[in-house]
Amino acid sequence: MLEFVANDYESLETTNYKKTNINQEEIPQYLESMSKAFYDTILPSVKLGGKTELPFKTPLGIDVNGYAVWLEGTIDYVDDDGVVWDWKTAKRSYSQSSKQKSAIQPTVYTYAVSEQLGLEPKFNYGVMIRQLDPKAQIVPIYRGAEHWNWLKHHVRGAVTMALRTGVDNQWITNDESALCSESWCSFWSVCKGAFNCHNVE
Ligand code: SF4
Repeated sequence: MLEFVANDYESLETTNYKKTNINQEEIPQYLESMSKAFYDTILPSVKLGGKTELPFKTPLGIDVNGYAVWLEGTIDYVDDDGVVWDWKTAKRSYSQSSKQKSAIQPTVYTYAVSEQLGLEPKFNYGVMIRQLDPKAQIVPIYRGAEHWNWLKHHVRGAVTMALRTGVDNQWITNDESALCSESWCSFWSVCKGAFNCHNVE
């Protein structure tokens, strides 16, 4: 497996892929450590034979000003029992309570699995920590009808506001995302980038 990961990284290096600000020289060591952590800690709990990279496109079941709202995305892995896995790499360990409280991804993915596959879903983050000693976590998140109803409420508010604002007025900005940078946001040059702000980890 380690050889496969190293080869994959080598071929990736020959492409013009987007890089983060992680020290590039340390990446091969992190890859080895995270691969071991995945193999030893996460993989034994994964039921094999499921669907990888499962695309979903499903109506959320709400309508705003005549517009039906749909959810669309790709789930890393879902097994035949409806257990959804999302693989993460992270600088530090996840807090289960904080993710349980408000993470939106488990809500969206479990809703999609329930609607699209008709299964009673469960959700786990499989987290590989980016450090030299192999370390991984399985972080289970409970989601059910109460969370899906909250999602509908949450999305209805956001879509209503977006439609009212329209395209000729300034939208609320949120620069707290890791994707708020010149490399990842296509609006950077006309948004935060126009203020000469530099992203330093
Ligand atoms: S630069 Fe992009 S991600 Fe950052 S606040 Fe503006 S639109 Fe949002």
